[in-house]
Amino acid sequence: MAFRSLSSQLLRRVSTVRRLPSVLSTSAVTYPSIAIRSFTTSLATRNGGAIKVQAAVARAPGQPFTFDELTLRAPKDDEILVKIHATGVCHTDIAVKDRNLCAFPMVLGHEGVGVVEKIGSRVTTVKPGDHVMMSYASCGGCPHCNTGKPAYCYDHGFLNFAGKHKDGSVDHHHQSTPIQGTFFRQSSFATYSLCTENNCFPVAKDLPLATLAPLNCGIQTGAGAVMNTFKCGAGTSIAVFGCGAVGMSAIMAAKVVGCTTVVALDLTESRLALAKELGATHTIRVDKADTPAKTAADIKALTGAGAVGVDYALETSGNRFALRAAFDSLKPLGQCGLIGGAAPGVEVSLEMLSMLNGKQMRGIIQGDSVSKVFVPQLIALWQAGRFPYDKLITFYDGMCAHLFAALGCCI
Ligand SMILES: [Zn+2]
Ligand SMILES: [Zn+2]
Repeated sequence: MAFRSLSSQLLRRVSTVRRLPSVLSTSAVTYPSIAIRSFTTSLATRNGGAIKVQAAVARAPGQPFTFDELTLRAPKDDEILVKIHATGVCHTDIAVKDRNLCAFPMVLGHEGVGVVEKIGSRVTTVKPGDHVMMSYASCGGCPHCNTGKPAYCYDHGFLNFAGKHKDGSVDHHHQSTPIQGTFFRQSSFATYSLCTENNCFPVAKDLPLATLAPLNCGIQTGAGAVMNTFKCGAGTSIAVFGCGAVGMSAIMAAKVVGCTTVVALDLTESRLALAKELGATHTIRVDKADTPAKTAADIKALTGAGAVGVDYALETSGNRFALRAAFDSLKPLGQCGLIGGAAPGVEVSLEMLSMLNGKQMRGIIQGDSVSKVFVPQLIALWQAGRFPYDKLITFYDGMCAHLFAALGCCI
């Protein structure tokens, strides 16, 4: 079944984080975060323990998603069956498909929110009817999981990206054909998801579920980099490369924690205007022809007497020249964080001498967030009017097929 047969009866509403291209990206392609919501319940048909679900299936790199009716097996003792109300679409969903980084065919989607339909016998933290969010998966037992760093779980790659379980089994079938899933232990581009208590947590029923969806990955990643990874203090300075949903979330978080110099960099004036509205104190429109040295000098020029540089620089675009500029914009002892994913094999060069003055560079996954703790904090900040991430979201009705078609052609 082609995606065009997916009508508004299945996907009534779609929301998307405003289309914001990545700064300094070699591609002008944009990666909206989409939330699909208000699935019709009648499309799920009980068949023993398994159910029929509708899903967007990634079939091949660079090819559009297809929309198919799949069979989803019944939840095991430690699993939760969630009726999806909305799901975000993150850059990662599209990147793994179009860069051939996942198994095919596969059900992607990793910013799901919904209502608990059924729980396994060992599940205790949620119950049927609860409104829940689903974030990334971790094993819960390795040294990093046991020391509050589940984003760096030893098994992060397998649990979130492998598409199957350790025994080789999959959750979905199309007729008799196995379909990979378990993406971020949810595969939320579907009417129902299987998850576990590890990556699923309840939220108050009076919260707007669809609006919460992007918090599960993109928003917590940007905000978490500032609040969890860097722990930026009041009066510090930060440069944020790329004003997409992740970069914008970092900018909003920088305002929350009291950074007094917040430099937003992007290729597009309209994005920079929004960045200023959300908390940037300075903006720099980067030209693709700019060298990293020029961009770094432009940032340093905004840091007062001596133009010594910023305390923190965050690279969200996945562009190696942006990463070099970010590192070179730091003051001594400054910290540079990398969020943007590049294609396999891409390398970046740094001047060794420039590292000697205490500068650091590190990669950041999920903003170092423990989602069950951090997402409720972001929700509270949003409710207090201090973290207006909802300004990034555009809601659509019945346009899902068009949006997925556009996404399917990305890169
Ligand atoms: Zn994501
Ligand atoms: Zn672990």
